[in-house]
Amino acid sequence: MLDFMWPDITLFLQNPTHVFIVATSLVLAVLILLASSIATLDVKKRAMLLYAHVFFLVFPIIYFLFSVTCKYMFAHCGREEFIFYITTLSAITALLTGLVFAPVIFIRWYKRQAREINDTTNPLVAFIVKHSKKMGIYEVKLYVCDSAKPLAFSYSFLKSKIFISIGMIDILTKKELESVLLHELYHIKHKSGMLKHALHLLRATSPIAAFTVSAIKLDHEERSADAFAISQQETDRFICRAKAKVEDFNRAQCLL
Ligand SMILES: [Zn+2]
Repeated sequence: MLDFMWPDITLFLQNPTHVFIVATSLVLAVLILLASSIATLDVKKRAMLLYAHVFFLVFPIIYFLFSVTCKYMFAHCGREEFIFYITTLSAITALLTGLVFAPVIFIRWYKRQAREINDTTNPLVAFIVKHSKKMGIYEVKLYVCDSAKPLAFSYSFLKSKIFISIGMIDILTKKELESVLLHELYHIKHKSGMLKHALHLLRATSPIAAFTVSAIKLDHEERSADAFAISQQETDRFICRAKAKVEDFNRAQCLL
């Protein structure tokens, strides 16, 4: 493969603009990855940085492939025009690739920081086992993140996982925690974890996407997950209190 492409690679690297674009992109990818490992970052900022990392990492590869394959397509274009076209095409492709891979890296990051709880006598694990069976979900693993910030999210790609932070366990009562777990189980059942991440990232990084169907779909998904928790607990008391406590915590953090 490399032998076959070698003449293209050599030709590509002879162009200083190409080298500059590729080198800048790779340096940015490394710097962003280092920034994303800062322990105090919140979920949204970390997700955005990891997304940007994937973007700058795949951009040079796509840029190279486009520059080789599109040479003939844009044969009539001037050199600057050609670079403009392939940069735009590469950026769009890298954005889409990021949407697929960033959530995977994001979850791996949290998995490394978290502890899997598989002791079935743990009340949270027992609750998940009981309800996932009832809902016809195959297996859901519980991970506890070592973070003082209250956070909970789920992810279902190959294996389903629910992440919950120590901060969340600390401030919520048993019933409130159960309402959060039911909310996350709903996401898993409807395979919305991955979609949710992709949409969050899209919404956070694109000004246009914020006004499109993705935002509406996301809110609808959240409301449905809440409605499911309410229907199971036959009251909205716990999910509402859980949300209020998380909001209070975040507000207090902002005032510090
Ligand atoms: Zn949710």
